[in-house]
Amino acid sequence: MTVREEGELAHKRVLVKVSGEALMGSEPFGLHWPTIERIAQDLVEARLTGAEIAVVVGGGNILRGARVASDGLDRATADHMGMLATVMNALALEKAIEFAGSPARTLSAIPMPTICEPYARQPALKHLARGRIVLLAGGTGNPYFTTDTGAVLRAAELQCDAVMKATNVDGVYTADPKTDPTATRYDRLTHDEALAKDLKVMDAAAFALAREARLPIIVFSIREPGAIASAIRGEGRATTVAP
Ligand code: UDP
Repeated sequence: MTVREEGELAHKRVLVKVSGEALMGSEPFGLHWPTIERIAQDLVEARLTGAEIAVVVGGGNILRGARVASDGLDRATADHMGMLATVMNALALEKAIEFAGSPARTLSAIPMPTICEPYARQPALKHLARGRIVLLAGGTGNPYFTTDTGAVLRAAELQCDAVMKATNVDGVYTADPKTDPTATRYDRLTHDEALAKDLKVMDAAAFALAREARLPIIVFSIREPGAIASAIRGEGRATTVAP
């Protein structure tokens, strides 16, 4: 166990994964501005802890490639549309973060230089060092992947200390807590335990990469105000999946 000095952060550079669904609040589709403003405030508060913050934004509130492909469109095109959805979400969150008082930059894995910067590792690291919240849009830039995989990939290459997976529940449970009242929450798990117990922390490709990169994944509820800052301090209700 690591012993930290008082006030020392548990995580100094983190990758926060915000799903598209988190941005739609109680709406059935799209963007819910009060929710986006609240998440933006949480991200700014997290930045004020002193940690460097990169954010991978999903697109499921607008479009999921697999869903559209099941209607007959080819999967690669459907996934391109999904990746574009993540750019729209990132731009919305970027503006909300700036409005909440922190500089922010969107970098897209799909180059669209008239709208935002193309993603490259060195500029991303420079933005982080200058205190900007860096929004990473476009997932991995490739079809057949998810933004969870994009989150773990970027966390590994940007040498983040942890992936903070913001969800609608406050951690990883033995079963789905919405349908099984006997489900209990784990405080801590290893990657191997999560695999052996078949706990769906992230999709399989994302999880395999996290395990290989030995990246901790911290799962917590985005509905809890201040949850991102708490997770950075190593506090609050969450499940930590770590080697
Ligand atoms: N996507 C993709 N490659 C990636 C990341 C995302 O093709 O590297 C597409 C895919 O179609 C996916 C959509 O973008 O369904 C939205 O991403 P995701 O489903 O991961 O969003 P979330 O569930 O986090 O809102």
